[in-house]
Amino acid sequence: MGTNRIDLKSRRPLIIAGPCSAETEEQTVETCLRLAESGQVDMLRAGVWKPRTKPNTFEGVGERGLAWLSKVKQMTGMPYGVEVANAKHVYTALSYGVDMVWIGARTTVSPFSVQEIADALRGSDVKVLIKNPMSPDIELWAGAVARMLNAGIKPENIGLIHRGFVYYGKSRFRNPPMWHLAIEMRRRFPDMVMLGDPSHICGNRELLAEVSQKAADLSYDGLIIESHINPNQAWSDASQQVTPGQLLDLLEQVKWRADNVENQEYLNALDRCRGEIDQLDAEIFNLLSQRMTVSEEIGHIKKVNNVAILQGGRWNAIVERITSQAQRLNLSEEFLQTVLEAIHLESINHQNKVMNE
Ligand code: PEP
Ligand code: MN
Repeated sequence: MGTNRIDLKSRRPLIIAGPCSAETEEQTVETCLRLAESGQVDMLRAGVWKPRTKPNTFEGVGERGLAWLSKVKQMTGMPYGVEVANAKHVYTALSYGVDMVWIGARTTVSPFSVQEIADALRGSDVKVLIKNPMSPDIELWAGAVARMLNAGIKPENIGLIHRGFVYYGKSRFRNPPMWHLAIEMRRRFPDMVMLGDPSHICGNRELLAEVSQKAADLSYDGLIIESHINPNQAWSDASQQVTPGQLLDLLEQVKWRADNVENQEYLNALDRCRGEIDQLDAEIFNLLSQRMTVSEEIGHIKKVNNVAILQGGRWNAIVERITSQAQRLNLSEEFLQTVLEAIHLESINHQNKVMNE
């Protein structure tokens, strides 16, 4: 048991696949066998304890599912993992010789639960994959990593899963990816494996290829994708699961670009561009700093003349003037608006500081 624990970095891309939930022995074994025989999947997944939004829905088959998964492992040698949300899950999963456990998005938001899991995992060498929390709060994600490290889990046994974030508003995704948060997480933990979870980001089958490709373009180390022999009949996440056959088609489409670290010409070209970017960034922020000095001057003038900070008309005129140049600048209107709003807010803070002096 637990003899073929796979090195998270041994394969690139690392592909983890399997049903959202283990439902029946037949569904679990058949799905997993199809995935195993494809030769394209490195590790199997299935939820046996399911955190569901509402009670009285399917909450997982529990320990029985672990027996089915370890049966598949005996038949195929494939390593597998399940989601754990408390210490009891961890002890039970370890007793079946799981190769990996993952911490779900609903659990990463809860420091007590994460700590309990970390304590239960102490001394074990299973892989621990940490999904981003439901809320777009990178500190909770980083905090969960820190709790695992503090419990003595080796950094090479920890991986990150980007599954998107809850967002209040309309989106074409079930959990909008907010890629910049995952990129920041990579910056903080550059040696930790990062996997994309297009299934939970998309919530549908149509967008899976696009999101998988984006993960590959951002140099993710692999993907975790849900697959089910009969997706439409799945007891959870039916609309986002694909058959093993569809999964193979999808994986074939995704282009993984090599990290071209050997080629000197490439390195030189990259270095030159990065130098230019550093220089431009320095100039942008110097200019912003100068702009804030002028804002403070305006604050003085308004203070002396006893005028309010906000003058709506003036601000609208600025936004209109700049966004009307979007095309010439080759920048999206959305981007210009976001930047302008940030500048405006900082500007108001500077004026405020002066007026309250
Ligand atoms: C899952 O992987 O099936 C799952 C419940 O995911 P998440 O925690 O990302 O919602
Ligand atoms: Mn799921």
